[in-house]
Amino acid sequence: MTKDEIESFITQFPVYQYQFLKPEEIEYNDRVRAICKKECPRYGTSWSCPPAVGTVEECTERCRQYEDVLFFSSIAQVQDVMNLEESLKTKVEHEKMTHLIEQHLKEHKLETYTLSSDSCAACEKCAYPKGACRHPELMFPCIESHGIVVTNLVEKYAMDYYLGDRYIVWFSLIFFKAS
Ligand code: SF4
Repeated sequence: MTKDEIESFITQFPVYQYQFLKPEEIEYNDRVRAICKKECPRYGTSWSCPPAVGTVEECTERCRQYEDVLFFSSIAQVQDVMNLEESLKTKVEHEKMTHLIEQHLKEHKLETYTLSSDSCAACEKCAYPKGACRHPELMFPCIESHGIVVTNLVEKYAMDYYLGDRYIVWFSLIFFKAS
């Protein structure tokens, strides 16, 4: 499947902005992990977050096995972007779209590995650490869990991160290669 074909496929979705890049163009920074540990309440509570996703070195190695990356965003309207509960609810549509795009790539003989904004919210309470992930087919590790700073990528590719108090921007990265 060519990038042109992928581009043409994603036009049917409300993708806001997108960019093709190479896994080696992405910075995987161990310092992000320290911020996760210190500031994120999801640290150590989800299969989609550290430490469950492995070390940043392992994550980097995993990502670099792929040839290309589709980096894309979608936007959702909210009353107040600072209202976490309201904002998180809007992630569902972005996740659905990410799954459909990923699925399409897989159906066209591409191997994929997908990261998405924030931690997985597929279950009310994550099975981590006592049980195995209940829906590995639905679970996308969080982008930051791999030491990737979304704002750096957004700046590098002249995309938008902040569109005002009424909009939230969600991001996904689909790594892919011929299988
Ligand atoms: S699918 Fe459920 S068990 Fe798996 S990471 Fe998501 S919330 Fe946790």
